[in-house]
Amino acid sequence: MVPLQKPQIEKLLCDLIRIPSVNPHLTEDKESNEMNLALFVRDWLISHTIKAHIEEVEPGRPNVYAEIGDGDGKTLCFCAHLDTVGVQEMTIPPFEPTIEDKRMYGRGSCDMKGGLAAVLSAAAALATTGVKGKLILALVCDEEYASIGADDFVKRHRADGCILTEPSDLKIVMAHKGFLWAKVTVPGKSAHGSRWDIGESAISKMGSILVALDEFDKKVLRQRSDSLVGPASMHVSLINGGSGISTYASSCTVHIERRTLPSEERHEVQEEIERKIHKACPDAEIEWYFHRPSMYCDPEEPIAKSVKTAFQEVLGREGECSGFGVWTDAAIFQQAGIPTVNIGPIGFGLHEPVEWVDIDSVVQTASILFHAANSFTNSS
Ligand SMILES: [Zn+2]
Repeated sequence: MVPLQKPQIEKLLCDLIRIPSVNPHLTEDKESNEMNLALFVRDWLISHTIKAHIEEVEPGRPNVYAEIGDGDGKTLCFCAHLDTVGVQEMTIPPFEPTIEDKRMYGRGSCDMKGGLAAVLSAAAALATTGVKGKLILALVCDEEYASIGADDFVKRHRADGCILTEPSDLKIVMAHKGFLWAKVTVPGKSAHGSRWDIGESAISKMGSILVALDEFDKKVLRQRSDSLVGPASMHVSLINGGSGISTYASSCTVHIERRTLPSEERHEVQEEIERKIHKACPDAEIEWYFHRPSMYCDPEEPIAKSVKTAFQEVLGREGECSGFGVWTDAAIFQQAGIPTVNIGPIGFGLHEPVEWVDIDSVVQTASILFHAANSFTNSS
């Protein structure tokens, strides 16, 4: 199993970091995308005797699909995203990987080229040993923006279980939150600033909504907590209103974000907030314009059991089950009917000026994937 040895994995991770793959929506450089990395990954897989090809989701926005085995067993999917966030704020060279104190530094080292290196290495090892069923790889674009890669992948491919390798400090992530976005608009009555008798400030009306939502967040939502992902929450993230210092504001708009728990139903979440807003301001208009579901994997699912057993085999102790506050592509697989768990390396600095990943934990993640794939694709 040469591909699972640390020097090989370390070199692969260096190669992945050296190839910029900043999401084009998160940089001024509109030439930037995941294509160069996708081509490297495809060729690396092919050189390790794995069938792999590019699936272009949009022009210049590739997924890499790969597969191993075609047996009677189950189909397992490993998923990692190819894109990274931008490098504008970074205080270390983003694309010149350096190793210090067992840590690899560079943009994407942790989020998530460490997890990508683990997926590739485990796949290469499984290609030499073979799998009973089938292993497919979803190496997707655009996770850091709109997840067009994962959305496209689940339309084309099926699997019986999926393991995502976002960094999780080697915890087994069984759940994460979802979110909803809404735009709230309040009308006022435009008038000259001296005309208190006919003017009505939309901004003042919005004020009572803001107070009500803040109280709702702190007193109600934060008490509603999930053992894996923590409390529900919401916040007002953008505000816009008024047209001039001497004019009564004719309109005020805010955008709100609500982070949801796996146990919460979307329509109930929406109705609850609508009631709060309309109580504070009956003529407010609310437009729910985007949402992503939460993710939850039943611990009895074979994929969860396989990962737990693999963890025990590799690390000699029971894996800790956990949840993410953040949203990930796991929800897209789960929503497509593919039970999904996440396990990934230890690291720090996601979306931050200094980013690193613990190299040993990348090697351990690769070993866990290898063992999990064997038990999952062998099981009935
Ligand atoms: Zn990520």
